[in-house]
Amino acid sequence: MDLFSNVAAGEYNKQAKIGQAEVEYIQSASILTEAKGFMSAYDYTLNPYTGCSFGCNYCYAAFFSRSSDEKDNWGYWLKVKENALQLLMKFRKKPLNNKTIYISSVTDPYQPIEKNLQLTRSLLIELLTYHKPRLVIQTRSPLVTRDIDLLKQFEVVQVNMTVTTDSEAVRKAFEPFCPSNKLRLKAIQEVTDAGIQTCITMTPLLPVENALDFTSELLHTGVKKFIVQPFHPDKGKFIASTREIAFEQMRLMNWNDLKYSEVVQIFKQKLPWLGEGKQGFAPI
Ligand code: SF4
Repeated sequence: MDLFSNVAAGEYNKQAKIGQAEVEYIQSASILTEAKGFMSAYDYTLNPYTGCSFGCNYCYAAFFSRSSDEKDNWGYWLKVKENALQLLMKFRKKPLNNKTIYISSVTDPYQPIEKNLQLTRSLLIELLTYHKPRLVIQTRSPLVTRDIDLLKQFEVVQVNMTVTTDSEAVRKAFEPFCPSNKLRLKAIQEVTDAGIQTCITMTPLLPVENALDFTSELLHTGVKKFIVQPFHPDKGKFIASTREIAFEQMRLMNWNDLKYSEVVQIFKQKLPWLGEGKQGFAPI
């Protein structure tokens, strides 16, 4: 097993920018966060990065930004927790083998910078070697296929791939910096073919062009488990919410609760297992 990722070995080029996002390298105070609220069915969430260069315009994580400047520029900044592995290594004395960990709740663990840094990979190696917790990996990135070799070795693991629409035009309007739908579906098919438990999360479900064709595409991946969720309508300081720009985009595309319900009805008829909202996100 490759025990040293680029970050662990200190051998990496500190890129100042990745795509449109400015990158900062920070010393974090912690790496595991006790899961609460929407994630309360898990023991911990683990975020190797702060911020996210995928910059989805509906991202609720933007609301957890430290400043209004960071919130308003969500997608244009990213912080790398350089000491993430060292922080996780402190848990060797207190193994996490009976814990359930969600990677990641407020960033994407396989966003583009991960390809060079291998920070998420180093954390997986640490978890695999010293803990073997129950894991759920949440991503929008085909890069997750790089770590199939590690993921296969966990006893309980599920890879969730988010695919929010069947339309590339819609995807580009809401998630311009994210990989295409096609690449994501191909990647989750590969993970499924490797014998790993998988799930496609349509969270939030964006406007869909053809729900029936979409279900065929989803089923073609071999994935058996799906989760759907609408935009969060609630707003408030302590409630993670979608951003106004995304609501505006939804209005322009004439997407509403009724259309959402119609598509979900078709999903219910065609997909073998469909979870909704928080319940759908419960650990495996
Ligand atoms: S990939 Fe996830 S964390 Fe990143 S911007 Fe999109 S919704 Fe937010």
